[in-house]
Amino acid sequence: MPYKRLLIGAGLILSFGAFVLVASANHSWGSYHWARQSNPFTLKVVDSVTSVWDSYLDTANVDWSVSSVLDLTKENGSIDSSDRRRCKPVAGKIRACNSTYGNNGWLGVAQIWISGSHITKATTKVNDTYFNTAYYNTPAWRRLVMCQEIAHDFGLGHQDEIFGNANLGSCMDYTNNPSGPPSNEHPNAHDYDQLELIYAHLDDITTVGQTIMRHADHDDADDVAGWGKSLQKDGNGKTSLYVRDLGRDEKVFTFVIWTE
Ligand SMILES: [Zn+2]
Ligand SMILES: [Zn+2]
Repeated sequence: MPYKRLLIGAGLILSFGAFVLVASANHSWGSYHWARQSNPFTLKVVDSVTSVWDSYLDTANVDWSVSSVLDLTKENGSIDSSDRRRCKPVAGKIRACNSTYGNNGWLGVAQIWISGSHITKATTKVNDTYFNTAYYNTPAWRRLVMCQEIAHDFGLGHQDEIFGNANLGSCMDYTNNPSGPPSNEHPNAHDYDQLELIYAHLDDITTVGQTIMRHADHDDADDVAGWGKSLQKDGNGKTSLYVRDLGRDEKVFTFVIWTE
């Protein structure tokens, strides 16, 4: 009995500690994560970006692999233009794509498919319609958006969604001035802290590299009409996070960074 009490006490202290850390990291939108049985785990990033984006994808993978809980490795994917446009998710992996997705207002979109509390597949899309314009065609903008979208694919949210305030020095912070100073082109310590919290526990199963057969493809989730309901709005009042309930404890979350 006293032992059990002690455990409950320890649990309370632990969860309170976690709460304080989450509050200070300030991007706790949820605790969805890839299921895995050990840390660090290796996530494959299927490379469906053309050469103009390759170095930025490499930088994002290297930056996030500094985390003590995960490593990202690139795998060659199709760069056929229709495959990049569709960016069909690959079970158990992240897929990153670029295309001229059109004048739809968004710079980047990340989607994660969830079963229960676990991510089963994820995509990152960067919109060349805007990155081909002088304003966005800079290394700083490309680094910020690629770094941020890839991070959503393993469960990280934004630190701040106001474009005009001071930079926090993290690619998870919205800005008008990605190069700063401080620069918002890479993760900061808060991001790594938050990742350690999300991935502090281990699971009995793994979704990394696995095919979860239950998931329907939901081809209609690839534009705003299929993204579902608004969960969170950015500093300009535009939805930055959508959720679509797929039923049977499955969901797809869509993170969007809009042009201003
Ligand atoms: Zn878990
Ligand atoms: Zn974002």
